[in-house]
Amino acid sequence: MSELNNAQQQAVESGDGPQLILAGAGSGKTRTIVHRIGHLIAERGIAPHRILAVTFTNKAAAELKARLSMLIGDDGGGVTSGTFHALSLRFLRRYADALGFPRSFQVIDSDDQKALVKRLLKSRNIATDRLHPNYLIGWIEHCKHAGLTPAQAPEHGWNGIDMRELYGEYQAQLKQHERMDFSDLILNVVLLMRDFKDIAEALRSRFDCVLVDEYQDTNPIQHEWLMLLCAGHRNLTVVGDDDQSIYGWRGADVSHILDFERHWSGAGLHRLEENYRSTAAILELANAVIRENEDRHEKVLKATHEQGETPHWKVCNDDYDEARRIAAQLEGWRSRGYPWSEMAILFRSNRQSLVLEQVLRESQVPYRMIGGVGFFERMEIKDALAYWSLLNGCGDALQLLRVCNRPKRGLGLKGQEQLMEQLAASGLRACEWLGLIATGSAEGAAKKVAPMALLIQSLQGDLDEMPDRGLRIILDESGYLKSIEALGEIEAASRLENIRTLQEYIEMSMAQGLTPVEFMDRAALLQNSEEMQRNDDRDDEPEAISMMSLHRAKGLEFDCVVLPGVEEGQLPHQRALDEGMNGISEERRLLYVGITRARKHLLLTSARLRRMFGESHYPLPSRFIKKISPELLAQEGATAPSAIGMSQSTSISIGSNVAHPSFGEGVILSLEGSGDASRVTVQFKRAGIKRLMLKYAALQMI
Ligand code: ATP
Ligand code: MG
Repeated sequence: MSELNNAQQQAVESGDGPQLILAGAGSGKTRTIVHRIGHLIAERGIAPHRILAVTFTNKAAAELKARLSMLIGDDGGGVTSGTFHALSLRFLRRYADALGFPRSFQVIDSDDQKALVKRLLKSRNIATDRLHPNYLIGWIEHCKHAGLTPAQAPEHGWNGIDMRELYGEYQAQLKQHERMDFSDLILNVVLLMRDFKDIAEALRSRFDCVLVDEYQDTNPIQHEWLMLLCAGHRNLTVVGDDDQSIYGWRGADVSHILDFERHWSGAGLHRLEENYRSTAAILELANAVIRENEDRHEKVLKATHEQGETPHWKVCNDDYDEARRIAAQLEGWRSRGYPWSEMAILFRSNRQSLVLEQVLRESQVPYRMIGGVGFFERMEIKDALAYWSLLNGCGDALQLLRVCNRPKRGLGLKGQEQLMEQLAASGLRACEWLGLIATGSAEGAAKKVAPMALLIQSLQGDLDEMPDRGLRIILDESGYLKSIEALGEIEAASRLENIRTLQEYIEMSMAQGLTPVEFMDRAALLQNSEEMQRNDDRDDEPEAISMMSLHRAKGLEFDCVVLPGVEEGQLPHQRALDEGMNGISEERRLLYVGITRARKHLLLTSARLRRMFGESHYPLPSRFIKKISPELLAQEGATAPSAIGMSQSTSISIGSNVAHPSFGEGVILSLEGSGDASRVTVQFKRAGIKRLMLKYAALQMI
């Protein structure tokens, strides 16, 4: 761990002032950041908590912390680190009142945000075909990423609607509900520093040095955040790789990294040119793929490892064939001695994971989904948290709205509206108001929630005695658990399981000394599409392969990597194809990110037939790999080169339900060959997967 090459050593020891480390994948950028932090503490005598390390995702923050802990000791030795969002939230908890928010404000989740926008549009009689809520949300986000308040936003008329005015109204309503959205967190810290000299000064003087990993993904508002925060000491170290910029769609702007020296005069520039991660063969493929992008900084990236195995590209028949070949490859790697935890499947879109998950389960390959529908984005978890925060005195109007009719309490849309009006008229916070109607006489809609208010009040005295601070009891006695059970056995089982997990998580967090407000903050940050981090090292956590999106895999590394669906429409993604050149360059960078995650073995797959939304597609291989020579990327065709199911004379096709005289009912997974030689692969409900000669299988359509 302690080794560094000369260039890394120089970057680590470079003096005060702005420093840019610009280097390709796997060249030790993150390692250099970690060592520089160690150097600042050990050699320059800077107190750990006065060093700020910033990352983009929770996963990257955890990774940085883990590496710091290895170098410096427990918990990264007290270095302040986190994502832009988490750090901003921490600053706002201190200073939000300057912006007219109570310090106990909450972060709005995407469901509630959408509901709020819908109500806003409805109140103006704007139909969704004139202005779609998603379009308004997207436009507002776009303004916020650019650092523009409603007053500064460009004039934008859309079907005769004044978008700027709606942006202003949206902000006003958020404030009224004491909520901020995710983009607000960063924008509001910038506003604090722009407009309040004393707060800017206070924030600046908290840190002596700021370091940022994956700097290529900063958007203009994050850039300004850093500019303002480091304006005094100018001790800003950033590392990044313009070839790995993959968040253009979120407003990230690579030019910040390329213009760093212009923004920060006298900046030191460091280049790292040796790759310590991948075999030479993998690196050659990565370089060949990225070379085709225009508009990039030419970089040298030399391998330090041996040649290794040539990456493979398997052309498969269809989704199932692809998934089974991937499972077989994973098992092959496993039998060569690689642990499951050193393998990953990195896909372009979450949709791709469905068939993969199914087949991995059947093949008994243990896997862990990272991301997907995040834990905190699930309905039952949001409901449970709403109840819990109301019980613990930190719930607000939107949380009350969320559960006021779950279970059913006879409050339709009208009733819910009335409830909100009654609450607003009282001038009280949601929790105070509930206290009032628990004891006083309630009327109208309020009367419907009075029993719930009473229950909350009766439980509140004993909260300190309960390790989960009342989660289980409130869900049980409010009738919520019953309403979940009513969803049916299968549906309920997984939801109840999730609630139990939440309960454990709350218990653990409370044991760590978090207050309910702090816990809700943590939940809100994790909810921004990150997997729930299990902070306790659970030894019983079974070893598993990782499945995640390419976006999420940034900065990570595995011995063995699979990139499925390397096809036109998937990678490059259809959306990018519709967008033109910029989009396509970004897709190529995504593939580059994927390839460079692998240390030793790399498999790319594509399929001849894809089923999507019930339709069959016959995608072409991705333009990014089509022209790569076989010396760099060894190609293996599918076993059956032609005639896949769909064109067969029989009416049987992939996805058909069939019955077999001895195996029972099943679904067709794939068809190969033609005529008498046709083979069919069927997944039987009881008998598992069988490959049969169609002619003799005596299958019947059902
Ligand atoms: P990415 O662009 O993917 O974020 P990176 O530039 O941040 O990559 P690191 O993750 O820091 O690269 O390093 C890649 C791998 O190489 C890690 O396993 C790291 O420990 C190893 N490594 C880096 N520098 C050295 C070195 N000088 N000697 C040995 N191993 C090294
Ligand atoms: Mg890195």
